[in-house]
Amino acid sequence: MPKEFNFLSQLTGSFALAAAGNATVAMIEAAYRHHGLDWRYINCEVTPERLGDAVRGARAMGWAGFNCSLPHKVAVIEHLDGLGESAAIMRAVNCAVRRGDKYVGENTDGKGFLMSLEGVVDPRGKRIVLFGAGGAARALGVELALAGACSISVVNRSPERGAELVGVINDKTPAKAELIVWDRKYKVQPDADIVINATSIGLYPHVDGRLDVDIESLKPAMVVADVVPSPPRTNLIKDAQARGCTIVDGLGMLVNQGVISIKYWTGIDVDATVMRQKLEDIYGE
Ligand code: NDP
Repeated sequence: MPKEFNFLSQLTGSFALAAAGNATVAMIEAAYRHHGLDWRYINCEVTPERLGDAVRGARAMGWAGFNCSLPHKVAVIEHLDGLGESAAIMRAVNCAVRRGDKYVGENTDGKGFLMSLEGVVDPRGKRIVLFGAGGAARALGVELALAGACSISVVNRSPERGAELVGVINDKTPAKAELIVWDRKYKVQPDADIVINATSIGLYPHVDGRLDVDIESLKPAMVVADVVPSPPRTNLIKDAQARGCTIVDGLGMLVNQGVISIKYWTGIDVDATVMRQKLEDIYGE
């Protein structure tokens, strides 16, 4: 059990619709306990109409910060006092941090993914294939571009969302992006270095099956990553492993975005293995 909690300024948490982040609560509190931090992380169910009130409540109580999940990642911006560099480009915030008397919006999703990826490959100068153009894909696309990726092919079902992400990358980062509308089985080009699923396909493997991708086009020299954290071994991860690719699962991203959030709030570098172990216990991996 956590030690007795004394100060509201040691309070952190998550604002989300429904209790979406129970695994996140367990993961973050495991880190607090492991490091003897007398802090708490509370999952708060917040409806869109009450988001402003929730932020004002956190402000009034002097919370150190909070995460935001769907559907609040964009809407929360109007209630904050400023944005970090990448959050300002992608216009999405999943982590608010109190600095002085101000709340600044950061995005740790893309940074967390990058931290996982950098464990196996340096994205600088690499050619990326990115499936998806939603919130997670925006975070990843912008962070990869800022980290020096040379080109990003955004493969998305809806052309509008895809074009929006391509526009952001081309206008606001040094990387070159192109849109490929995903209306048939996609064959990964042989010179791609890193292939990433940033869609929600894979969350329900028995229902949504597989990405519409020619698995034969995955080559052993490629790194294949998935953002879906549960189950960590998605069909894409299994297929890519069978093809001899280097793989990066979505659990690492979830852990790392938590590590970075805790660093923002407390200033402390926590042990990622304790957090990953907690998630593996929960997800039964
Ligand atoms: P969004 O709803 O914003 O975006 C969903 C994306 O998936 C869109 O690009 C959408 O395409 C695409 N998509 C969904 N279903 C299909 C389908 N059947 N065929 C083709 N494309 C499809 O969701 P998020 O970006 O917020 O989340 C995406 C995933 O990222 C989720 O699984 C979430 O769990 C994961 N995630 C993981 C994190 C981690 O820490 N590991 C952190 C944050 C998110 P279209 O534009 O055409 O609708």
